[in-house]
Amino acid sequence: MTTPSLPPRPARRAVIVGSGISGLAAALTLHRAGWQPLIVERAPERRTGGYFVRFFGPGYAAAERLGLLDALPNRQRPGARGFEIDRSGRVTPGLTFPDQGDGTPLRMLLRSDLERVLYDAVHDLVEIRYGTGPAAITQDRHQVTVTMTDGSVESADLLIGADGIHSTVRSLAFGPEDLYREDFDHAVAACVIDGALPGVRDGDTMVATAPGRSAWINTYVDHPPVAFLLYRTPWPAAEVRKNPSDALREVFGDFGGTIVPAMLNAMDRSESVLFDQVSQIHINRWSQGRVVLLGDSAWCMSLYSGQGSGMGIAGAELLSRLLEEHDCVPSALGAWEQQLRPLTTRYQKEALRMQHFFMPVNRFGHIARRGLVRVISHPAGAKIAKAIMN
Ligand SMILES: Cc1cc2nc3c(=O)[nH]c(=O)nc-3n(C[C@H](O)[C@H](O)[C@H](O)COP(=O)(O)OP(=O)(O)OC[C@H]3O[C@@H](n4cnc5c(N)ncnc54)[C@H](O)[C@@H]3O)c2cc1C
Repeated sequence: MTTPSLPPRPARRAVIVGSGISGLAAALTLHRAGWQPLIVERAPERRTGGYFVRFFGPGYAAAERLGLLDALPNRQRPGARGFEIDRSGRVTPGLTFPDQGDGTPLRMLLRSDLERVLYDAVHDLVEIRYGTGPAAITQDRHQVTVTMTDGSVESADLLIGADGIHSTVRSLAFGPEDLYREDFDHAVAACVIDGALPGVRDGDTMVATAPGRSAWINTYVDHPPVAFLLYRTPWPAAEVRKNPSDALREVFGDFGGTIVPAMLNAMDRSESVLFDQVSQIHINRWSQGRVVLLGDSAWCMSLYSGQGSGMGIAGAELLSRLLEEHDCVPSALGAWEQQLRPLTTRYQKEALRMQHFFMPVNRFGHIARRGLVRVISHPAGAKIAKAIMN
């Protein structure tokens, strides 16, 4: 006697809010796991911009498994050189980013490289609806229903909030952002530089630091240099509401010889300057029923961790794998969080340490950082540092 075969189960549906690195990675991996994802993105079109990304560790390993690595460039020039600039503009040898980290090679990329590779992989397979996002969320045991800001309504097996640090999904399903955002007393500004800077050659990284301030210029293969500036401020939320040019000139006006003033001039000419506060997200559960947070909305670790994009990809890959293994969505979400949380907690803690590398927060930190740079820029010190990084 033959048993009648069951009709194939219809593909499970997921609504993904946000088409950043995490949202695109979720769409790709869920599609490969047999789901039917829909992305909704608040911006009117693709967000192709973004700044530097050190890409290594779990994200790098996930990108390799997903077959994305070949399409990702390494924008660090072989033989790249690092320099430190003191307050008066004197230039001394400094550090370059290592070529390994957390057990994998480290690639210098731009956020736009990751966005392009992920977008190319999904845009023929997954619907992306721009100019909309969630206005209300309801759920029962069987489905989650999202009413969008354009009035449309979508029901699905799963809602993924991959909508970044200021997540609307988190606000709607978990409560206001203030409960979960922990701010550093830091502001960050970044922009692409539209021309050559005095004394900066292709392949160079230059860093000017003083207690509570730092200014970085990174050069890239086949891309203009990117400048970013960090400084301490007691009221970062109020600070980043100021005009960036005025705020930055006030803090960096007397700083870094000719290079920092040239960076400030380039920022004035740029149409797109990132000017924001630096924060982390700490929330004790990433899912409620069929709603889950992914990427910066769940665990934003800040730029100091070097893991934000990478963990968006690694988190999406693991989530899709567990959803494939578990029929019950809430059980898959629980298993996912149990596996992933130790890693994100570790990187959040590492970010607290790494902030001192990016910007010495006080006089003592400045002296310690200078000493460390001197040791590491010596060949013997570099070997020790490399061993520690790996
Ligand atoms: C200066 C700087 C340097 C960094 N350096 C590194 C690094 O070296 N290595 C690294 O791995 N990471 C780095 N990061 C962090 C990394 O860029 C982020 O962690 C990562 O891009 C987060 O991706 P995401 O997709 O989770 O969120 P986001 O990139 O914030 O994407 C969220 C998306 O959701 C959309 N959205 C928001 N609200 C809504 C809504 N209500 N409805 C619909 N859509 C919505 C947004 O428009 C956006 O497209 C750096 C960040 C900065 C700023």
